[in-house]
Amino acid sequence: MKNFINWNFDNSYSKLPDSFKENITPVSVRNPKLLIFNENLAKELNLDFSKIERSQLSNIFAGNILPDGSNSIAQAYAGHQFGHFTMLGDGRAVLIGEHITRKNKRYDIQFKGSGKTSFSRNGDGRAALGPMLREYIISEAMHSLGIPTTRSLAVVQTGEEVIRERPLKGAILTRVALSHIRVGTFQYIAARQKKDELETLFNYVINRHYSNISNSKNKAIDLLKIFLEKQVELVINWMRIGFIHGVMNTDNMSISGETIDYGPCAFMDLYDPKTVFSSIDQMGRYAYCNQPLITKWNLSRFAECLIPLIDKDQDKAINTATEIINTFENKYEIKWLNMMRNKLGLTNIYEEDKYLILDLLTWMHQNKVDYTNTFCHLMDFKVEKDKNYEKSDFQNWKKKWRERLKKNNNNSENSMKLMRNANPLVIPRNHKVEDALNEANKNNTKPMIKLIEILNNPYNEKTDLANYQEPSVSKEKYQTFCGT
Ligand code: AMP
Ligand code: MG
Repeated sequence: MKNFINWNFDNSYSKLPDSFKENITPVSVRNPKLLIFNENLAKELNLDFSKIERSQLSNIFAGNILPDGSNSIAQAYAGHQFGHFTMLGDGRAVLIGEHITRKNKRYDIQFKGSGKTSFSRNGDGRAALGPMLREYIISEAMHSLGIPTTRSLAVVQTGEEVIRERPLKGAILTRVALSHIRVGTFQYIAARQKKDELETLFNYVINRHYSNISNSKNKAIDLLKIFLEKQVELVINWMRIGFIHGVMNTDNMSISGETIDYGPCAFMDLYDPKTVFSSIDQMGRYAYCNQPLITKWNLSRFAECLIPLIDKDQDKAINTATEIINTFENKYEIKWLNMMRNKLGLTNIYEEDKYLILDLLTWMHQNKVDYTNTFCHLMDFKVEKDKNYEKSDFQNWKKKWRERLKKNNNNSENSMKLMRNANPLVIPRNHKVEDALNEANKNNTKPMIKLIEILNNPYNEKTDLANYQEPSVSKEKYQTFCGT
């Protein structure tokens, strides 16, 4: 096929040793139909699909036609799933290649739902339409919220059924990522106990993602430190907007620091630190308030993989790694407080800020108040009247907050700016996402496209937001499913 599209592949991962991957092409599908396509992202990638007919596009994003220069593989990895170590790998995804943009940025292009591979175990290698569209909506919303994330370029319906509890429409998502290397990739290689393979992966990662430390004295130590910083940043961003990933297994923790694998994720509405949406997370391992702790746990699993590279003396290596991992709490606390200060428009640092912040969170929790909308209320942004905001305990808190604002070394305009950058006016409300998915499943993509458009600009005031700001009125507990 002529390359009108400007694909510019340079596939480095597929050149790694055979044990890292399986060479495989996507299994073709019967009757693909493009449901949604991300023109903005295509532009950012310098891809031009304008000369391609819709039917051809459907075949391209179904993997029925592979572009010149692609070299498709399924990647091997392992991971701790809910604390248990398992061999995994791309059981329903194929990396078709690494595309290089004009600015020389490298992106993985992956089809998710593209058929069986040698890593499929008992799975069918396929994905259902709902979960793929859900990943599209939420990953793009996360990007607009300013949070590192994999992106979504397209979703096609395959025209084939996938059998779950009941027959569902099949679909394939085109996922774009800085890479798909996970903590679980390191765990897989480390478990093989071949130091040369570990070094190969390690050098590959330094070269691809962390070339700034390529000349440092001990790259393994520095990688652990940098990765820890990245993950602290990431989880704080999640906490800022009330995002609950839902399945923070080590195979779902990207080495590049991007949010990856939107399975049962969802946004918290009423503030409750113990919020869990995922139906399989019975023990609340991945609850909102546990996310920092799990991040640290996952980082420890990563550190274990690096031990042979940190020092020849294993005890020394373990001590060094432990010391680094134990910096987590302190770093997290400082950054979390600063993030919360931004949400409240506070500059300067006062010891008492912590109590002001915790008082607000406790009040929200006790009164079952919406997390996002409370900050909108504090910014005087019109949200549906919640009688809770008239209560005297909240008014008293507000008084203390205003007193504290006076101690800022800036004017109120700057303070407002801080708040506006930290507090989204709109998030993907669970009921809105569900409504959009239900309609899309009936071939009406309009509500989904409108929702995506609204979520595209979450910090800016627009006239038509009101409909998208309210938490669900349903009394039923919202539940999400993995959709595998
Ligand atoms: P996930 O829950 O998407 O993070 O996937 C966890 C593991 O299960 C990964 O190794 C996936 O490739 C694999 N997996 C999930 N769904 C399927 C499926 N339908 N067929 C084969 N493998 C799957
Ligand atoms: Mg996964």
